[in-house]
Amino acid sequence: MDSQALLAWYDRHARVLPWRARKGQRQEPYRVWLSEIMLQQTTVKTVGPYYAKFLAQWPTVTALAAAKLDDVLRAWAGLGYYARARNLHACAVAVVERHGGVFPDTLDGLRDLPGIGDYTASAVAAIAFDADAVPVDGNVERVVTRLFAIEEALPAAKPRIKELALSLLPPSRSGDFAQAMMDLGATICTPKKPACSLCPWNDVCLARERGDQETFPRKAPKREGKLRRGAAFVVLRADGHILLRTRPDKGLLAKMTEVPGSAWTHDFQLKDAEAAAPLDAAWRRLPGTVTHVFTHFPLELTVFAAEVPRATKAPEGARWVKLAEAHAEALPTVMRKVLAHALE
Ligand code: SF4
Repeated sequence: MDSQALLAWYDRHARVLPWRARKGQRQEPYRVWLSEIMLQQTTVKTVGPYYAKFLAQWPTVTALAAAKLDDVLRAWAGLGYYARARNLHACAVAVVERHGGVFPDTLDGLRDLPGIGDYTASAVAAIAFDADAVPVDGNVERVVTRLFAIEEALPAAKPRIKELALSLLPPSRSGDFAQAMMDLGATICTPKKPACSLCPWNDVCLARERGDQETFPRKAPKREGKLRRGAAFVVLRADGHILLRTRPDKGLLAKMTEVPGSAWTHDFQLKDAEAAAPLDAAWRRLPGTVTHVFTHFPLELTVFAAEVPRATKAPEGARWVKLAEAHAEALPTVMRKVLAHALE
């Protein structure tokens, strides 16, 4: 496998992305790290505006470390997988406290930071420091398993894929190589209908030779999480306020904002829903349900709505928020869906 062929392809076809360095330059570790954390499980298109917003608000890791966690969560709202935002902040604080605001330039030093696993450490090391590392994401997994026709299924095949990806590293330009591998997977070696005729490795790719490219990477059968159900209560006060609360400090969507609701369980019964209502009111059950898929389980919420008089007090643990200002709260996507279902 000739890594120079891939680099030559990259020089001609590199995608213009907001976090990319100009040709021949390195990217700042803060920008690489920020973009890589945001891009986990999230598309380039969705990340673009969030990346720009974060950089405008917190242009350096020191500025991000000095921010309040609530402000970071608020700015992150809508990107999903909120543990990433908490780790982002914790990592910025660690870079400032342990390293004087300068990212370490070794894989081990980077891996020691909160929220930085092998993938992100490799991405920052390669792209910001040109270290000998290859970040292996889903795109790179696809390219490597096809090039070598790896029969072993994911996730067991991961160590082998990593080893083979490292064996392809060129003697220099590790950062460009990492980005070239990702680009090749994202734009040419796509899950369906890869454009093999445009691929710089089409003459050496084993899967292409066999004609079964689309069957790689092999995957172990998926275990679907069991459906959970619950109820959500949208209360509107006569003066245009909505009842919200903050989720507990630990667990799923920790510290994020939500409308009051029941627990989300496998055996949730609709007849018990109103027992979880935050206050006495003439509750209306809204037609349909709100569905959302978390990493480990799908969720189905039945939404109840009520209007209450202006003098109504917020129950313990909840607060009234002006409806016009609710968008600035750290509302996760599932809660944005609930509000849209109830209010639109
Ligand atoms: S030849 Fe086709 S399958 Fe093989 S790496 Fe290139 S795009 Fe992927």
